[in-house]
Amino acid sequence: MLKIVQPATRELTHQRLYERIGKFLLKHGLVPSPENYSLVYQLIVDSDSAMSREVRKLVSDGIRLSQPEADRLREDYGIVASRSGLAEPVDESALAAARMLIEQFASTVEQARAETESYGRDLEQGAAALKETGKENGLDSLLRLTGVIIERTRAAEQRLVQAESETRTLRKQLSEVEEEARRDPLTKLANRRAFEDRCRELDAAGAPVSLAICDLDHFKLINDAHGHAVGDRVLKMMARRLEKFCGGHMVARLGGEEFVILFEKMSPAQAAELVDDARRAMNRSDFVLRTTGERIGQITFSAGIAASPEGTTRALNRADELLYEAKKAGRDQIRFEPSE
Ligand code: GH3
Ligand code: MG
Ligand code: MG
Repeated sequence: MLKIVQPATRELTHQRLYERIGKFLLKHGLVPSPENYSLVYQLIVDSDSAMSREVRKLVSDGIRLSQPEADRLREDYGIVASRSGLAEPVDESALAAARMLIEQFASTVEQARAETESYGRDLEQGAAALKETGKENGLDSLLRLTGVIIERTRAAEQRLVQAESETRTLRKQLSEVEEEARRDPLTKLANRRAFEDRCRELDAAGAPVSLAICDLDHFKLINDAHGHAVGDRVLKMMARRLEKFCGGHMVARLGGEEFVILFEKMSPAQAAELVDDARRAMNRSDFVLRTTGERIGQITFSAGIAASPEGTTRALNRADELLYEAKKAGRDQIRFEPSE
């Protein structure tokens, strides 16, 4: 993990985060329950998410966020009051500041090295010229001095080369942290933020895409019967299954027990074939916990798939409606939009 954020700064960040959550809850007259806390936590750590944007709209003109609205938002965006469902807070401003510092450092070092190189070269040339032509008093000491300066310059050059390599390492670490911020910590899939970024790119390019929302059936019952830890393992298993059957396409965790897959350049019918392979592989299995031998039984999921001629936001809404139809029709099935 990158050590750019010093412990004291980190504590400050945590304190600030805590204060901001509290301030939001008080301002809107929401009780500080784990559910409300989780919701506001997500709003603050990911202020650019679709949910945060929706909240900003709701509370514009100083309108309070009501408890029923907060409940609906948690439901809509799959916000769970559990540690595993939440992303680590990423201090965006700290990351941006660190990146700027590194860029500055890199350019300073680059300039300094170029200067030192030419300085050393000049001195070497000067000394050589003196050696050839000069026979005056003090020439020996001048030569000695020049020699010392050349030595120092060489040492400085080496240090700068070292600093440059450290910069490269820092840059790499920073990219890793940025990459981590785009992953769901539980399943290691792309998270909602990474998914939304990709959607924006696709929309900007006008690229055709089919979007599948897959939602585990009666997942709450699995949690209730076997505990949250088992639920988490089921989520990880589901992530691996979707990756296996829809390999090469972006599989992301939208939140909770909801996953989304972006099938680029595919019709909903073509995408449905792949998702249905995953669905059949799931419902054929009889799950038993490897560690305890406890039987979980059948695990199924339902899916809705829609195309994006009018953009990915519209496709996501449509896929969600189709998913709802699949649930109503008895679960363990897929609904997709017919191609025009
Ligand atoms: P349906 O078939 O209608 O989708 O029913 P469901 O029970 O799957 O759906 P519901 O939305 O009622 O419940 C979702 C559950 O998912 C509730 C919540 O506790 C659980 N959940 C969400 N995120 C996580 C997580 O990260 N880990 C675990 N273990 N459970 C989670
Ligand atoms: Mg579900
Ligand atoms: Mg759900």
